[in-house]
Amino acid sequence: GEFRQSDFERLSVLGRGNGGIVHKVSHRRTSALYALKIIHRGHPGADEEVDVVRRVDSPHIVRCHSVLPTASGDSALLLELMDGGSLDSLVRGGQGGFPEAALAEVAAQALSGLAYLRARRVVHRDIKPANLLVNRAGQVKIGDFGIAEVVSRAGKYRAAYEGTAAYMSPERFDTERLHDGEEGRVDPYAADVWGLGVTVLELLMGRYPLLPAGQMPTWAALMCAICFGELPAIADGAASPELRSFVSACLQKDHRKRASVAELVAHPFVAGRDTAASRHALREVIEQRQ
Ligand code: ADP
Repeated sequence: GEFRQSDFERLSVLGRGNGGIVHKVSHRRTSALYALKIIHRGHPGADEEVDVVRRVDSPHIVRCHSVLPTASGDSALLLELMDGGSLDSLVRGGQGGFPEAALAEVAAQALSGLAYLRARRVVHRDIKPANLLVNRAGQVKIGDFGIAEVVSRAGKYRAAYEGTAAYMSPERFDTERLHDGEEGRVDPYAADVWGLGVTVLELLMGRYPLLPAGQMPTWAALMCAICFGELPAIADGAASPELRSFVSACLQKDHRKRASVAELVAHPFVAGRDTAASRHALREVIEQRQ
């Protein structure tokens, strides 16, 4: 039957974001655990998020079991609990980067999620370590559809962005062009591939990769680094040729030269990985860093 908020006991706070707060909750009758995400009424994108999460159902997307009624007009999403937290918290929970085998597994699973979204004409637009959630079984799932969008037939999409510019692709800084009726020429899905590239590089280096350590991530500094800067040098021996090639395919500044999700799924870094070993490596990272 239908769930209500009073069916759940709030156990702890899992995280806070722009839109509201995420609680760990337990269903009183069954003791099953979930994440309950409250999005405040009137928060920009609240309706879009509810709209999108209702459309998607994939093993690589955080599952939304139900949208609970509230008296206040807030939205309450009953989500699958991801008990390993976000990749962002795992980066901060340890020294240095993830081993390459674990990175290949993150990339492969995130790409499965992106391929699913692509088929559904959904652009996530906020792919970054904080929005990729993991569980102790070693699964990686895309979460937080707060600024996601269903691409219309005309190919038009919003250029507006709230939040950090750190994972924004170069073409998305070019808002004039996006507003200029030229939207159709910009592939909206390429922004998610860029976000994945920055994420993989961040997990490799153990810190945000596109600014020198210690530099303030102001909008201007980020825009400059993203649109015009060189990619950071990866030390000899710190990454395989396959990983270097994967990151460079994702981080092409010209969105027309950037690899598509389908091309990346077939990339040797992902397609050539030892699946059992890389799943194991990811599970170890989650255990050690959580
Ligand atoms: P916002 O849209 O407000 O940024 P998010 O959906 O990103 O909110 O959630 C904020 C934080 O809450 C995440 O970074 C994560 O740590 C935690 N969180 C969100 N959803 C879940 C979930 N399903 N399971 C576990 N933790 C979650």
